Amino acid sequence: MTINEATAKVFTALNVRTDVPARDYTSFRIGGPMAYFAEPSSAEEVSALIDAAKLSRLPVHVIGNGSNLLISDKGVRALFIRIGGNMSSFRFEGNFLTAEAGALLSVVSKGSVANGLMGLEWASGIPGTVGGGVAMNAGAYKGELSQVLREVTFIRDGEVITREVREGDLGYRYSAFAYPEAVVLSAKMELSPDDGGAKARMDDYTARRREKQPLEYPSAGSAFKRPEGYFAGALIEQAGLKGKRIGGAMVSPKHAGFIVNCGGASFGDVAALICFVRADVYEKFGVLLEPEVKIIG
Ligand SMILES: Cc1cc2nc3c(=O)[nH]c(=O)nc-3n(C[C@H](O)[C@H](O)[C@H](O)COP(=O)(O)OP(=O)(O)OC[C@H]3O[C@@H](n4cnc5c(N)ncnc54)[C@H](O)[C@@H]3O)c2cc1C
Repeated sequence: MTINEATAKVFTALNVRTDVPARDYTSFRIGGPMAYFAEPSSAEEVSALIDAAKLSRLPVHVIGNGSNLLISDKGVRALFIRIGGNMSSFRFEGNFLTAEAGALLSVVSKGSVANGLMGLEWASGIPGTVGGGVAMNAGAYKGELSQVLREVTFIRDGEVITREVREGDLGYRYSAFAYPEAVVLSAKMELSPDDGGAKARMDDYTARRREKQPLEYPSAGSAFKRPEGYFAGALIEQAGLKGKRIGGAMVSPKHAGFIVNCGGASFGDVAALICFVRADVYEKFGVLLEPEVKIIG
Protein backbone atom coordinates (compact mmCIF):
# COMPACT_ATOMS: atom_id res chain seq x y z
CA MET A 1 0.00 0.00 0.00
CA THR A 2 1.61 3.22 -1.09
CA ILE A 3 0.60 6.81 -1.31
CA ASN A 4 2.32 9.17 -3.67
CA GLU A 5 4.64 11.99 -2.69
CA ALA A 6 2.08 14.76 -3.08
CA THR A 7 -0.35 12.96 -0.78
CA ALA A 8 2.41 12.19 1.72
CA LYS A 9 3.42 15.85 1.86
CA VAL A 10 -0.09 17.02 2.80
CA PHE A 11 -0.56 14.12 5.24
CA THR A 12 2.67 15.04 7.01
CA ALA A 13 1.76 18.72 7.18
CA LEU A 14 -1.66 17.87 8.66
CA ASN A 15 -0.34 15.36 11.21
CA VAL A 16 -2.02 12.33 9.66
CA ARG A 17 -1.25 9.27 11.76
CA THR A 18 -0.92 5.75 10.42
CA ASP A 19 -2.37 2.42 11.56
CA VAL A 20 -4.53 3.85 14.31
CA PRO A 21 -6.69 1.18 15.97
CA ALA A 22 -10.38 1.77 15.21
CA ARG A 23 -11.30 0.14 18.50
CA ASP A 24 -9.96 3.24 20.26
CA TYR A 25 -12.37 5.46 18.32
CA THR A 26 -15.58 3.44 18.30
CA SER A 27 -18.11 2.88 21.07
CA PHE A 28 -18.22 -0.84 20.12
CA ARG A 29 -14.48 -1.06 20.97
CA ILE A 30 -14.01 -3.12 17.80
CA GLY A 31 -11.88 -2.46 14.75
CA GLY A 32 -8.37 -2.88 13.42
CA PRO A 33 -5.91 -0.33 12.07
CA MET A 34 -7.25 2.63 10.16
CA ALA A 35 -4.43 3.03 7.64
CA TYR A 36 -4.51 6.86 7.77
CA PHE A 37 -6.21 8.90 10.44
CA ALA A 38 -6.65 12.67 10.67
CA GLU A 39 -8.32 15.04 13.09
CA PRO A 40 -8.62 18.30 11.17
CA SER A 41 -9.16 21.70 12.77
CA SER A 42 -10.84 23.59 9.93
CA ALA A 43 -12.83 23.31 6.71
CA GLU A 44 -9.65 24.05 4.76
CA GLU A 45 -7.89 21.12 6.38
CA VAL A 46 -10.81 18.79 5.67
CA SER A 47 -10.77 19.82 1.99
CA ALA A 48 -6.99 19.50 1.75
CA LEU A 49 -7.14 16.00 3.23
CA ILE A 50 -9.85 14.86 0.81
CA ASP A 51 -7.97 16.31 -2.17
CA ALA A 52 -4.71 14.71 -1.04
CA ALA A 53 -6.35 11.29 -0.65
CA LYS A 54 -7.76 11.59 -4.18
CA LEU A 55 -4.25 12.06 -5.56
CA SER A 56 -3.42 8.54 -4.38
CA ARG A 57 -6.88 7.06 -5.04
CA LEU A 58 -7.20 6.45 -1.35
CA PRO A 59 -10.78 5.90 -0.12
CA VAL A 60 -12.00 8.37 2.52
CA HIS A 61 -14.33 7.84 5.49
CA VAL A 62 -15.61 10.73 7.56
CA ILE A 63 -16.46 9.82 11.12
CA GLY A 64 -17.54 11.57 14.28
CA ASN A 65 -17.49 9.98 17.70
CA GLY A 66 -17.75 6.44 16.26
CA SER A 67 -20.91 5.64 18.21
CA ASN A 68 -22.79 4.19 15.27
CA LEU A 69 -19.96 2.36 13.56
CA LEU A 70 -18.79 -1.22 13.13
CA ILE A 71 -15.32 -1.27 11.59
CA SER A 72 -13.51 -4.37 10.34
CA ASP A 73 -10.89 -5.78 12.66
CA LYS A 74 -8.75 -6.67 9.64
CA GLY A 75 -8.07 -2.97 9.25
CA VAL A 76 -9.18 -0.62 6.51
CA ARG A 77 -6.98 0.90 3.84
CA ALA A 78 -8.47 4.37 3.77
CA LEU A 79 -8.08 7.85 5.16
CA PHE A 80 -10.35 8.32 8.16
CA ILE A 81 -11.20 11.95 8.80
CA ARG A 82 -12.49 12.30 12.33
CA ILE A 83 -14.41 15.48 12.93
CA GLY A 84 -14.20 15.71 16.68
CA GLY A 85 -12.69 17.81 19.45
CA ASN A 86 -10.61 19.99 17.11
CA MET A 87 -13.82 21.31 15.54
CA SER A 88 -16.20 21.46 18.46
CA SER A 89 -16.95 25.07 19.35
CA PHE A 90 -20.52 26.30 19.67
CA ARG A 91 -22.32 29.54 20.43
CA PHE A 92 -25.77 30.81 21.27
CA GLU A 93 -27.44 33.85 19.69
CA GLY A 94 -30.93 34.41 20.99
CA ASN A 95 -32.79 31.16 20.48
CA PHE A 96 -30.25 29.90 17.95
CA LEU A 97 -27.41 27.48 18.61
CA THR A 98 -24.64 27.14 16.05
CA ALA A 99 -22.32 24.20 16.67
CA GLU A 100 -19.34 22.84 14.83
CA ALA A 101 -19.75 19.26 13.68
CA GLY A 102 -17.33 17.85 16.25
CA ALA A 103 -19.23 19.18 19.27
CA LEU A 104 -20.79 16.40 21.28
CA LEU A 105 -24.60 16.22 21.28
CA SER A 106 -24.54 15.65 25.04
CA VAL A 107 -22.49 18.83 25.55
CA VAL A 108 -24.64 21.09 23.35
CA SER A 109 -27.79 19.60 24.82
CA LYS A 110 -26.72 20.32 28.38
CA GLY A 111 -25.29 23.70 27.31
CA SER A 112 -28.67 24.64 25.81
CA VAL A 113 -30.51 23.90 29.02
CA ALA A 114 -27.88 25.82 31.00
CA ASN A 115 -28.53 28.74 28.63
CA GLY A 116 -32.28 28.70 29.34
CA LEU A 117 -33.24 26.98 26.08
CA MET A 118 -35.17 23.81 25.29
CA GLY A 119 -35.48 21.58 22.24
CA LEU A 120 -32.44 19.34 22.63
CA GLU A 121 -33.14 17.61 25.96
CA TRP A 122 -33.70 14.28 24.17
CA ALA A 123 -30.11 14.39 22.84
CA SER A 124 -28.31 14.59 26.19
CA GLY A 125 -27.68 10.82 26.34
CA ILE A 126 -26.71 10.26 22.70
CA PRO A 127 -22.93 9.68 22.56
CA GLY A 128 -22.42 11.16 19.08
CA THR A 129 -21.30 14.46 17.60
CA VAL A 130 -23.44 17.15 16.03
CA GLY A 131 -22.07 16.07 12.59
CA GLY A 132 -22.90 12.42 13.21
CA GLY A 133 -26.28 13.49 14.55
CA VAL A 134 -27.05 15.52 11.42
CA ALA A 135 -25.83 12.65 9.21
CA MET A 136 -28.06 10.15 11.03
CA ASN A 137 -30.90 12.54 11.91
CA ALA A 138 -30.40 11.26 15.44
CA GLY A 139 -33.40 11.16 17.69
CA ALA A 140 -34.87 9.82 20.90
CA TYR A 141 -37.96 10.22 23.08
CA LYS A 142 -40.01 11.72 20.22
CA GLY A 143 -37.35 14.33 19.49
CA GLU A 144 -35.03 14.35 16.49
CA LEU A 145 -32.59 16.78 14.97
CA SER A 146 -34.88 17.56 12.03
CA GLN A 147 -37.23 19.34 14.45
CA VAL A 148 -34.66 22.00 15.34
CA LEU A 149 -32.12 21.95 12.50
CA ARG A 150 -32.42 25.08 10.35
CA GLU A 151 -29.13 25.44 8.44
CA VAL A 152 -26.16 23.22 7.66
CA THR A 153 -22.67 24.17 6.50
CA PHE A 154 -21.00 21.34 4.64
CA ILE A 155 -18.42 20.45 2.02
CA ARG A 156 -19.62 18.96 -1.23
CA ASP A 157 -17.30 18.39 -4.17
CA GLY A 158 -14.66 20.60 -2.60
CA GLU A 159 -17.02 23.53 -2.08
CA VAL A 160 -18.12 24.88 1.31
CA ILE A 161 -21.88 25.43 1.17
CA THR A 162 -24.24 26.88 3.76
CA ARG A 163 -27.88 26.29 3.10
CA GLU A 164 -31.23 26.12 4.84
CA VAL A 165 -32.68 22.74 5.61
CA ARG A 166 -35.50 21.94 3.18
CA GLU A 167 -38.45 19.62 3.35
CA GLY A 168 -37.27 16.09 2.57
CA ASP A 169 -33.63 16.68 3.58
CA LEU A 170 -34.10 14.62 6.73
CA GLY A 171 -36.19 11.55 7.47
CA TYR A 172 -36.11 8.67 9.90
CA ARG A 173 -32.37 7.97 10.33
CA TYR A 174 -31.92 9.53 6.89
CA SER A 175 -30.17 12.76 5.98
CA ALA A 176 -29.15 14.48 2.78
CA PHE A 177 -26.17 15.80 4.81
CA ALA A 178 -24.23 12.58 5.32
CA TYR A 179 -20.91 11.42 4.02
CA PRO A 180 -20.20 10.78 1.10
CA GLU A 181 -22.80 13.28 -0.15
CA ALA A 182 -21.67 15.92 2.33
CA VAL A 183 -19.12 16.52 5.06
CA VAL A 184 -20.95 18.41 7.76
CA LEU A 185 -18.92 21.29 9.21
CA SER A 186 -21.50 23.00 11.38
CA ALA A 187 -25.20 23.14 12.10
CA LYS A 188 -27.55 25.91 13.16
CA MET A 189 -30.46 24.91 15.36
CA GLU A 190 -33.47 26.88 16.51
CA LEU A 191 -34.45 26.23 20.11
CA SER A 192 -37.04 27.91 22.29
CA PRO A 193 -37.06 29.48 25.73
CA ASP A 194 -37.17 26.87 28.48
CA ASP A 195 -40.72 26.30 29.72
CA GLY A 196 -39.21 25.53 33.11
CA GLY A 197 -39.19 21.77 32.61
CA ALA A 198 -36.11 21.24 30.43
CA LYS A 199 -33.76 20.09 33.20
CA ALA A 200 -36.36 17.69 34.63
CA ARG A 201 -37.01 16.20 31.17
CA MET A 202 -33.28 15.72 30.59
CA ASP A 203 -32.86 14.03 33.98
CA ASP A 204 -35.86 11.79 33.25
CA TYR A 205 -34.42 10.68 29.88
CA THR A 206 -31.05 9.99 31.51
CA ALA A 207 -32.68 7.87 34.20
CA ARG A 208 -34.72 5.95 31.60
CA ARG A 209 -31.59 5.23 29.55
CA ARG A 210 -29.74 3.95 32.62
CA GLU A 211 -32.65 1.73 33.54
CA LYS A 212 -33.40 0.32 30.07
CA GLN A 213 -30.15 0.37 28.11
CA PRO A 214 -27.05 -1.80 28.61
CA LEU A 215 -24.76 1.21 29.04
CA GLU A 216 -22.30 -0.92 31.01
CA TYR A 217 -21.24 -2.71 27.78
CA PRO A 218 -19.67 -1.30 24.63
CA SER A 219 -22.21 -1.09 21.79
CA ALA A 220 -23.34 1.14 18.95
CA GLY A 221 -26.78 1.75 20.41
CA SER A 222 -29.75 0.27 18.56
CA ALA A 223 -28.41 -2.26 16.10
CA PHE A 224 -31.48 -2.03 13.84
CA LYS A 225 -33.77 0.68 12.54
CA ARG A 226 -37.36 0.70 13.70
CA PRO A 227 -39.37 -1.17 11.07
CA GLU A 228 -42.66 0.52 10.18
CA GLY A 229 -45.37 -0.50 12.59
CA TYR A 230 -43.05 -2.41 14.93
CA PHE A 231 -40.22 -1.99 17.41
CA ALA A 232 -37.05 -3.88 16.51
CA GLY A 233 -36.29 -4.65 20.16
CA ALA A 234 -39.76 -6.10 20.79
CA LEU A 235 -39.57 -8.36 17.71
CA ILE A 236 -36.12 -9.61 18.71
CA GLU A 237 -37.33 -10.27 22.24
CA GLN A 238 -40.46 -12.09 20.99
CA ALA A 239 -38.21 -14.22 18.78
CA GLY A 240 -36.56 -15.39 22.00
CA LEU A 241 -33.19 -13.90 21.13
CA LYS A 242 -32.39 -11.95 24.31
CA GLY A 243 -28.99 -13.20 25.45
CA LYS A 244 -28.25 -14.92 22.08
CA ARG A 245 -24.49 -14.95 21.73
CA ILE A 246 -22.01 -15.42 18.90
CA GLY A 247 -18.44 -15.23 20.18
CA GLY A 248 -18.12 -12.03 22.19
CA ALA A 249 -21.24 -10.43 20.66
CA MET A 250 -24.56 -10.73 22.43
CA VAL A 251 -28.14 -9.57 22.05
CA SER A 252 -28.47 -7.61 25.27
CA PRO A 253 -30.65 -9.35 27.85
CA LYS A 254 -31.53 -5.86 29.14
CA HIS A 255 -32.64 -4.37 25.80
CA ALA A 256 -33.01 -6.70 22.82
CA GLY A 257 -32.50 -3.85 20.35
CA PHE A 258 -28.87 -3.53 21.43
CA ILE A 259 -26.07 -5.83 20.35
CA VAL A 260 -23.28 -5.54 22.90
CA ASN A 261 -19.63 -6.43 22.97
CA CYS A 262 -19.48 -8.51 26.11
CA GLY A 263 -15.74 -9.06 25.88
CA GLY A 264 -13.39 -9.43 22.94
CA ALA A 265 -16.12 -9.43 20.27
CA SER A 266 -14.75 -9.41 16.74
CA PHE A 267 -16.19 -7.65 13.71
CA GLY A 268 -17.19 -11.12 12.46
CA ASP A 269 -19.02 -11.96 15.71
CA VAL A 270 -21.17 -8.84 15.51
CA ALA A 271 -21.77 -9.19 11.75
CA ALA A 272 -22.78 -12.85 12.20
CA LEU A 273 -25.14 -11.97 15.05
CA ILE A 274 -26.73 -9.19 12.98
CA CYS A 275 -27.31 -11.72 10.15
CA PHE A 276 -28.66 -14.33 12.56
CA VAL A 277 -31.12 -11.91 14.18
CA ARG A 278 -32.33 -10.62 10.79
CA ALA A 279 -32.90 -14.14 9.46
CA ASP A 280 -34.64 -15.36 12.62
CA VAL A 281 -36.95 -12.34 12.95
CA TYR A 282 -37.79 -12.56 9.24
CA GLU A 283 -38.61 -16.24 9.49
CA LYS A 284 -40.81 -15.77 12.57
CA PHE A 285 -42.58 -12.49 11.76
CA GLY A 286 -41.91 -11.74 8.08
CA VAL A 287 -40.25 -8.42 9.01
CA LEU A 288 -36.83 -7.65 7.55
CA LEU A 289 -34.75 -5.61 9.99
CA GLU A 290 -32.39 -3.03 8.50
CA PRO A 291 -29.16 -2.39 10.40
CA GLU A 292 -28.89 1.12 11.82
CA VAL A 293 -25.20 0.66 12.51
CA LYS A 294 -22.91 1.75 9.67
CA ILE A 295 -20.50 -0.98 8.65
CA ILE A 296 -17.03 -0.15 7.29
CA GLY A 297 -14.82 -2.89 5.92
C1 LIG B 1 -25.21 3.79 24.11
C2 LIG B 1 -25.69 4.40 22.81
C3 LIG B 1 -26.95 5.01 22.76
C4 LIG B 1 -27.39 5.57 21.55
N1 LIG B 1 -28.62 6.16 21.53
C5 LIG B 1 -29.07 6.73 20.38
C6 LIG B 1 -30.35 7.37 20.33
O1 LIG B 1 -31.08 7.43 21.31
N2 LIG B 1 -30.74 7.91 19.15
C7 LIG B 1 -29.96 7.88 18.03
O2 LIG B 1 -30.37 8.40 16.99
N3 LIG B 1 -28.74 7.27 18.04
C8 LIG B 1 -28.28 6.70 19.19
N4 LIG B 1 -27.05 6.10 19.20
C9 LIG B 1 -26.26 6.00 17.96
C10 LIG B 1 -25.29 7.17 17.70
O3 LIG B 1 -24.87 7.79 18.91
C11 LIG B 1 -25.91 8.19 16.76
O4 LIG B 1 -26.20 7.62 15.50
C12 LIG B 1 -25.00 9.41 16.54
O5 LIG B 1 -25.70 10.41 15.86
C13 LIG B 1 -23.72 9.06 15.76
O6 LIG B 1 -22.83 10.16 15.87
P1 LIG B 1 -21.25 9.93 15.77
O7 LIG B 1 -20.62 11.27 15.85
O8 LIG B 1 -20.81 8.93 16.75
O9 LIG B 1 -21.13 9.38 14.28
P2 LIG B 1 -20.27 8.12 13.76
O10 LIG B 1 -20.74 6.89 14.43
O11 LIG B 1 -18.83 8.44 13.82
O12 LIG B 1 -20.75 8.09 12.24
C14 LIG B 1 -22.08 7.72 11.92
C15 LIG B 1 -22.38 8.09 10.48
O13 LIG B 1 -22.38 9.51 10.34
C16 LIG B 1 -21.46 9.93 9.34
N5 LIG B 1 -20.83 11.16 9.82
C17 LIG B 1 -20.25 11.39 11.03
N6 LIG B 1 -19.80 12.65 11.11
C18 LIG B 1 -20.09 13.24 9.92
C19 LIG B 1 -19.87 14.54 9.39
N7 LIG B 1 -19.26 15.52 10.09
N8 LIG B 1 -20.30 14.80 8.12
C20 LIG B 1 -20.92 13.84 7.39
N9 LIG B 1 -21.15 12.58 7.84
C21 LIG B 1 -20.75 12.29 9.09
C22 LIG B 1 -20.45 8.80 9.21
O14 LIG B 1 -19.87 8.77 7.92
C23 LIG B 1 -21.32 7.57 9.48
O15 LIG B 1 -21.99 7.16 8.31
C24 LIG B 1 -26.58 5.52 20.39
C25 LIG B 1 -25.31 4.91 20.46
C26 LIG B 1 -24.86 4.36 21.66
C27 LIG B 1 -23.50 3.73 21.71
